[in-house]
Amino acid sequence: MALDVQVDDLVRLRKPHPCGSYEWRVVRTGADIGLKCQVCGRRVLMARSTFKKRVKTVIHRSDPPEE
Ligand SMILES: [Zn+2]
Repeated sequence: MALDVQVDDLVRLRKPHPCGSYEWRVVRTGADIGLKCQVCGRRVLMARSTFKKRVKTVIHRSDPPEE
């Protein structure tokens, strides 16, 4: 899967955060990816390689909403 994320994209991870959310917003890109939990607001940084393994879906800002 190509990993082309931009700031403000939404991503869904394979495992939930302890707060129960699977959805995170991308707040930073680069060698490390910065994510902000959509439920509890916590921010995390993870290496791009780690991110690639944990991410399930990337929802781009410009994509139509999922049905
Ligand atoms: Zn959370």
